[in-house]
Amino acid sequence: MSADLLVLCYHAVSERWPADLSVTPANLEAQLGLLADRGYRGVTFTEAVTGAREGKAVAVTFDDAYRSVRTLGEPILGRLGWPATVFVPTDFAGTERPMSWPGIEHWADGEHAPELVAMSWEELDGLAAQGWEIGSHTCSHPRLTELGEPALEREMRLSRAACEERLGRPCESIAYPYGDHDVRVVDAARRSGYRTGGTLPSRTDSHDPLRWPRVGIYHGDDLRRFKAKVSPLVRGLRASRVWEAADRLRVNLQSRR
Ligand SMILES: [Zn+2]
Repeated sequence: MSADLLVLCYHAVSERWPADLSVTPANLEAQLGLLADRGYRGVTFTEAVTGAREGKAVAVTFDDAYRSVRTLGEPILGRLGWPATVFVPTDFAGTERPMSWPGIEHWADGEHAPELVAMSWEELDGLAAQGWEIGSHTCSHPRLTELGEPALEREMRLSRAACEERLGRPCESIAYPYGDHDVRVVDAARRSGYRTGGTLPSRTDSHDPLRWPRVGIYHGDDLRRFKAKVSPLVRGLRASRVWEAADRLRVNLQSRR
């Protein structure tokens, strides 16, 4: 059997929040159900990128550790019997304050502000006890390529230490905020003890576990678009420079909003 490995990047799950980074429970259920029907089995991110390549596997990852992932996402994954992976910005876990950084800060004081609250460490621990992987999303969610060396090291090391201390488990993975990474960032991740690192769509020629591209799924992705995004043909196209340029433009536009 040929191997087919799919790594998806989600953020929040909500019935009401119309943000690009939020998907409805109904859409999440339909999307993952489609993959289950196609014979995929769910694995954690680190299992996916370091494990044996056989059969069809999907790693469902959630950036930012929104509480809605536990309340609305976990039951859907649970019914499938699949684990997932959460990448937590450790400065925000357990604060009960809306998370805020460029790209989401315009939601932080409106009616949807509660959607921006991160899980507590107890909630993250509960997911870990069910087989979910909890990885780092740095401490404060900066653009890592823009940081000087001391700040870069601090974001990497302190977030990993916080996860290990609070959860009593090894923290092996990191997702680079905004997918923003370069050789220097990846080297810092390696030196800080990470085995695996998730990026966002880029040239998918990388088989380096520390810069593994993920397919981002967003609010506007109905089942038709989702099918296209996860099709092996489209994923092959993503490896082209054209796609990378289009994605850069999208990220730039998002961060300016
Ligand atoms: Zn993020």
